[in-house]
Amino acid sequence: MPITRIGWLTWKEVEALNRETTILILPTGCTEQHGQRLPLCTDTRSAEFLAERIAKKLSGAVLLPALPFGTAQDTSAWPGTVSIRNYIYQEVIEDILESFIIHGFTKFLVVNFHGPNHQPIEKAIEMIQLDYDVQILNPDKDVFMNPEFMKLCESLFGKKLAHGNEVETSISVAIEPDLIRPAEAVTGTGPDYFPLKEEMPATPTEWRRLIPLGHFGNPAKAKLKAGQILINWIINQFLELARTEFK
Ligand SMILES: [Zn+2]
Repeated sequence: MPITRIGWLTWKEVEALNRETTILILPTGCTEQHGQRLPLCTDTRSAEFLAERIAKKLSGAVLLPALPFGTAQDTSAWPGTVSIRNYIYQEVIEDILESFIIHGFTKFLVVNFHGPNHQPIEKAIEMIQLDYDVQILNPDKDVFMNPEFMKLCESLFGKKLAHGNEVETSISVAIEPDLIRPAEAVTGTGPDYFPLKEEMPATPTEWRRLIPLGHFGNPAKAKLKAGQILINWIINQFLELARTEFK
């Protein structure tokens, strides 16, 4: 199916969209340091790419532009990271959704690729649903925290998806190889464990001390084929959840 992109339509074409069947897809990412191989746009490009693939296969899908900024306080000690405060980000999400809801749209799928955006997006959805009877699906946790997905990552790399590590880098290599720095750019590895809640760094400076190179693991070990396998799994999972929810 060709992708319908909202930004390419005129207002008359938007007005003519079927309110019962249209599913508006909002990709959300961030502009954030991603270690030694990945550019700042990694999460935005990943969210956009996955949303495009989903839009191609999901009937009624209309794709919104990817939101390129997110909440990224944890990595704000590195230059290049842009961080929107949580409550402002939440309000931005509410305003985007409401702009369509007031024109009768009722079905939304958020394709979020940046973990820290999750909470404010959930809060935005909660606020919107106090006022409107609409369906908004934000299944990032049901995809990326899915035990099956984690098992797949373990089987391919012996570890989970973490910021800038070989798992995330493999996904990026499969999406936009031209944006990825060569494996030789990696001068050292980051920790392989993700800190438990009680060990979580409290400030951006502490985060920089924990992962000085900006990434977990070893992004030099990224594998194209593994990235393609993960991407296919992710897309199918989003599609399955969306098809179930928006029946
Ligand atoms: Zn990322």
